[in-house]
Amino acid sequence: MTKRVLVLGSTGSVGQQALDVLSGARDSFRVVGLSAHSSADLLASQAAAHAPVAVCLVEERPVSVPAGCQVLHGADGLVELVRRTEPDVVIGAITGAAGLASTLESARSGAHLALANKESLVLAGDLVKAACARSGSELLPVDSEHSAIAQCLAGASHGGVRRLVLTASGGPFRGRTREDMADVTIEQALNHPSWEMGPRITIDSATLMNKALEIVEACHLFDVGADSIEVVVHPQSVIHSMVEFVDGSIVAQLGPPDMRVPIRWALAWPQRMESGHPPVDVASLGQLTFEEPDREAFPCLDLGVRVAREGGLSGCVLNAANEIAVDAFLAGRLPFLAIPTVVTDAMDTFGHPSAPDLETILEMDGRVRRYAEERLLALAR
Ligand code: MG
Repeated sequence: MTKRVLVLGSTGSVGQQALDVLSGARDSFRVVGLSAHSSADLLASQAAAHAPVAVCLVEERPVSVPAGCQVLHGADGLVELVRRTEPDVVIGAITGAAGLASTLESARSGAHLALANKESLVLAGDLVKAACARSGSELLPVDSEHSAIAQCLAGASHGGVRRLVLTASGGPFRGRTREDMADVTIEQALNHPSWEMGPRITIDSATLMNKALEIVEACHLFDVGADSIEVVVHPQSVIHSMVEFVDGSIVAQLGPPDMRVPIRWALAWPQRMESGHPPVDVASLGQLTFEEPDREAFPCLDLGVRVAREGGLSGCVLNAANEIAVDAFLAGRLPFLAIPTVVTDAMDTFGHPSAPDLETILEMDGRVRRYAEERLLALAR
């Protein structure tokens, strides 16, 4: 039986790689929906290649699609796209808080949710998980670390787990002190040593905010507290994460730093999907090294621990402030080291009230964005 697949955020880095995987597996999967924020031309060519039932271009601009394909617009269009395409699997690959509403709708739909949009869990992990539990949606991470942990845990009883070990590449500024990073450029921050990703997550990797978000993501996905998660820097990005069990055994998952591996895992789950690649030459992997993260040089890391402990809306506050700060850095409006300053100020200001529903979360998201914009202006003066 072919599975109907909706790719949310199909023109982004993960979305394009997902379509690459799906193009090679047309006997098993049919692409029924695609969405993009503003890349109308790429969306049009993807629609021509896959002939989906419907597409959504969030920006209100024309997009050319094959005959019979419906076109939706706006943030509400993403939610409507989930309803109209009736997918068996949703790949949630939108970047940032913009992916939350469509993730929640997917979780309610009963479709398997292959989730790359980690922000959905950081903002609303409890809501997403509750919706999945009600509908029977299986929540499958498309984040290399969390895919690794899910694979390490396969067949394990929950009581046997001692801790999760998230690996981090360390990003382009590994080994630098805070002072060394005072005047890093956008180009330097975008030059990630091992992974090719979209611009915002690449900056998040340089500040280690990405790992902070992943701590929160792991707490939700695997029902553990922040105290049961350790971060270790592993520059080769070959081991994607590990699980230590109470008997002292550590299980790790290895693979090339290629997002198509966790995409295939989530698409095919609980089966496995042929990659079509030659076997990995294990000897060529060379040495695998590990070191402690420098929490002083990269203060964003502990902000993730703080969110995991505080809960409520703290993840929403952290993410909204970070999105504004990172966009400002990418626009040349904020120095690199001021990113954690803006985020910490927002967290101190807004605290962690409870996050009962989507409306409350989106309202806080908007308030924090306005606050962060004002902080940027003050810092620029
Ligand atoms: Mg990751």
